[in-house]
Amino acid sequence: MTTDLYQDDRFPERQCDYCNRRYRGPAVYCSLRCAIADSGTVPVLANWTVYERPRDYPDGYIARKWVILRGAAEPFPTNEIVVGTTLDDVRAKLPPGLAGPLLRNDDDDPKIVETWW
Ligand SMILES: [Zn+2]
Repeated sequence: MTTDLYQDDRFPERQCDYCNRRYRGPAVYCSLRCAIADSGTVPVLANWTVYERPRDYPDGYIARKWVILRGAAEPFPTNEIVVGTTLDDVRAKLPPGLAGPLLRNDDDDPKIVETWW
């Protein structure tokens, strides 16, 4: 089960760059739909990055879905997240069908535990 970030008041309130809706989350758009509409591109790849106690979620583990949009230079953080108190907790809540985790690279942010594709 995934959670829509804007339901969690620990995250800052923002205004969507595309539709002006108020929402909560790390991304500059309220939804992937708005990101796609604004950029004119479609996602070609997605991953779930698992973080341990990042600044915006100090209580445990959080997995955030990122998408790579065709033609975009940087991956786009979506507002889809999974949270849990332990790593196993978060792993169990990730959507089915992922191929598996990649371990972190040495130059990754130290808060990153692993990335699922
Ligand atoms: Zn929007």
